[in-house]
Amino acid sequence: MHLYGTQGINEEGHLTIGGVDAVELANTYGTPQFVYDLALFRERARGFIDTFKKGNVKAQVAYASKAFSSIAIYQVAAQEGLSVDVVSGGELYTALQAGFPSGKIHFHGNNKSIEELHQAFDAKIGCIVIDNFYEIEKLKEIAAQKKQKMDVLIRVTPGVEAHTHDFITTGQTDSKFGFDLSNGQADEAFQLLYKEEYLQFKGMHCHIGSQIFDTEAFSLAAKKVVDKMAEWHQTTGFQATVLNLGGGFGIRYTEEDAPLAPAVYVDDMVQAVKKEVQALGIALPEIWIEPGRSLVGDAGTTLYTVGSNKVVPDIRNYIAIDGGMSDNIRPALYDAKYEGALANKMTQNADTIYTVAGKLCESGDKIIEDISLPKAEAGDILATFCTGAYGYSMASNYNRIGRPAVVFVEDGQHQLVVKRESLEDLVKLDLPLTLGKG
Ligand SMILES: *Cc1c(COP(=O)(O)O)cnc(C)c1O
Repeated sequence: MHLYGTQGINEEGHLTIGGVDAVELANTYGTPQFVYDLALFRERARGFIDTFKKGNVKAQVAYASKAFSSIAIYQVAAQEGLSVDVVSGGELYTALQAGFPSGKIHFHGNNKSIEELHQAFDAKIGCIVIDNFYEIEKLKEIAAQKKQKMDVLIRVTPGVEAHTHDFITTGQTDSKFGFDLSNGQADEAFQLLYKEEYLQFKGMHCHIGSQIFDTEAFSLAAKKVVDKMAEWHQTTGFQATVLNLGGGFGIRYTEEDAPLAPAVYVDDMVQAVKKEVQALGIALPEIWIEPGRSLVGDAGTTLYTVGSNKVVPDIRNYIAIDGGMSDNIRPALYDAKYEGALANKMTQNADTIYTVAGKLCESGDKIIEDISLPKAEAGDILATFCTGAYGYSMASNYNRIGRPAVVFVEDGQHQLVVKRESLEDLVKLDLPLTLGKG
């Protein structure tokens, strides 16, 4: 069994996280419950930030908060000196409510609404990452109308697409995001922006994929973008000052995943960029990155209570939990794999194979297939590991199931940071019928 971060097993044979008994957490806050190990989040954040510092490179490490957005996580991000990415007015609002320094917020998205753009200007955020020509037009109007400056990057597709274990390079990238680097779109966007008074063009952004396990694809993307910066420098004298290489650093969900340490990703990236700028004789830009999953993924654990079971003779033993695809859509959506354990039976022999089914009305609502566990009974607490990214943030109210509680643990302390959705919460937006015959 693989334990993450500060996880351990106490004398009662219970899982502990951050020095807190997981069974006690389940009793205190109920299940399903997301538990975040703050020490592990901080360790990951420092792994990225400190490596840039050691390499003497000006950098911003922006937490891609779509992975898990809540007031408290923005506050921890602020404590650690991270910047944050938001992709909607809702995430921006949450970050502002958290008191997150607005100058370190970056706004992404391929269809930011006019209201969202106004919201970004009014909050004086750090930068908008422009995705398309329509957005350039609207931003110019808004900035002129407000007579207000805004730093901007353009998102480009460098023709490098990384997937878990390999990557492909393509001439044109068929993507809904960004300006193509090779077909003239990025150049056109640059021409429209670099002399702008209110929109302060700083450089380029690219994001090449997710759950990436090697550094080569990042280096290749960096090289392509730096080459473009050098080309613009040569033709116009303009020196871009920001190179944002996005997120996508891989994490360990199961034993099949072998991620690199944050320091390794950053080191290789910095080397690749330095080499290229030296060869081309341009100044080293600031390097920005945007880890999401790799900051919160393995810091998160979900606790469920086991309920019913079903034996399909000679085929499968099902156990059912009190959550499922409403709090973790990834197995149904991406065929994602997870590991788990019975938090109250950590020292017992895992001699039975189960499939863990959720309680939602979909046959595909299975969280883990074929997991070895000790003999499971109703009332046991099932922990699924590495659920901190894209679990809560993709949670739904399908079947009118309330979204789970979220709890932070650190140094033997625990704190509720997102309340469980109650039955009253589930109907609070509903209005009674007034149309028709009464
Ligand atoms: C989703 C996303 C990220 C974060 O990706 P992870 O795989 O969670 O690290 C970073 N940047 C952009 C633009 C994204 O869309």
